[in-house]
Amino acid sequence: MASDKRLLIRGGLVVDPSQNLEAQRDVLIEGGKVRALLAPRESARAAASAEIVDAAGCWVVPGLIDLHVHAREPGGESAETLASASKAAAAGGFTTILAMPNTEPALDNPALLELLKAKAERDACVNVLFAAAATVGRKGGRPTDIARLAAAGAKALTDDGRAVADAGLARRVMEWAADCGLVFIEHCEDESLGRGAVAHEGPAALKKGLAMSPWAAETSVVLRDIALAELTGCRLHLAHVSAAQSAAALAWAKERGLAVSGEVTPHHLALCEDDVPGQDANFKVNPPLRGKADRDALIRALKDGAIDAVATDHAPHSPEAKAAGWASAPPGVLGLETAVGVVLTKLVHPGKMSKKRWVESMSAFPAKLLNLKSKGSLKPGMDADAAVIAPAKSWTVPDAFLSKSRNSPFVGARLKGQVRATLVGGRVVHAL
Ligand SMILES: [Zn+2]
Repeated sequence: MASDKRLLIRGGLVVDPSQNLEAQRDVLIEGGKVRALLAPRESARAAASAEIVDAAGCWVVPGLIDLHVHAREPGGESAETLASASKAAAAGGFTTILAMPNTEPALDNPALLELLKAKAERDACVNVLFAAAATVGRKGGRPTDIARLAAAGAKALTDDGRAVADAGLARRVMEWAADCGLVFIEHCEDESLGRGAVAHEGPAALKKGLAMSPWAAETSVVLRDIALAELTGCRLHLAHVSAAQSAAALAWAKERGLAVSGEVTPHHLALCEDDVPGQDANFKVNPPLRGKADRDALIRALKDGAIDAVATDHAPHSPEAKAAGWASAPPGVLGLETAVGVVLTKLVHPGKMSKKRWVESMSAFPAKLLNLKSKGSLKPGMDADAAVIAPAKSWTVPDAFLSKSRNSPFVGARLKGQVRATLVGGRVVHAL
């Protein structure tokens, strides 16, 4: 995927927590790698012989890495494909995405993994990595062949969409994952606490008369898995943390020195149960939007590091599926194309999170978690994956996306901060 061209990203403020850098630098790229970071007065000679990417007034950051994307291939191609998900990713400043295995069929065997890797290589304009299912068919019955999946290049294990409900089975999966050096990503939800639930157990859903699931459905599995991580030594990552109590549990696991991390979605950072207009299914997500106090606790936890990453849980669904009404529509919203705008508007611009902490949560940390040694940083020698972001640019989220779907709760929202260009391996894959 790397390009041989010489490129100079010129005039921007480089924000790169991996080298504790926030300064005016021009980024010189050669052979698909970062060659040098040049102070503006040093870059005139390089500029004469390189193609210029204009970043005046912009922030230049290491390419964003999304730990949670539903690319829907195979089986859900009417809602998204590897090609369309990668275009949406590029437009959102993401240069690497981790695709979830809850496809049809589930990604639970090395042959399908090889096929999808080859397809992504052909179709996708960003790096696509794959998480494999933890149990066969994601059915929670028996573990997949974890050693062979690891050997075939799976980057993580998860039954995302549901938890591995049986604790004994979760323990075996985590022991095996630990042996193979894979991260186990848990979707924390005890379904027995909210069968048929379509909303958070709180005042808003009570008023609407919706079937509800309490915060404890999430936190009980969070606490169980933290215990199993300590027991097995497995690297555990908690998907889409949504409750204040879960964030507190993560902070406790870190105090104990455990290798446990967590992510939060832009929609759980920006919205709460009170923000759902009527029964608009474009706001229906799993885990559900919770209370205002939860949202505020998630923002604080992300700022202070109890929660490590922002991941989108990009979950495309066709307009027909989402038109089925609140009770029947599948949960999930788009995330790739709005994440930067939402997080800058809601957190970074209002001073709730620093620029460096933001980049750490969306690039440096995900690279570390997935053991991507040449990503998540703009140090010389690293892959030339980068995003150029116009922080002050205001825009209104349109009703059309590069994703094949349109199920975003942010359609019509006014956001401040727009991705101007995205580079993967020194090649421009998105430019406005
Ligand atoms: Zn999930």
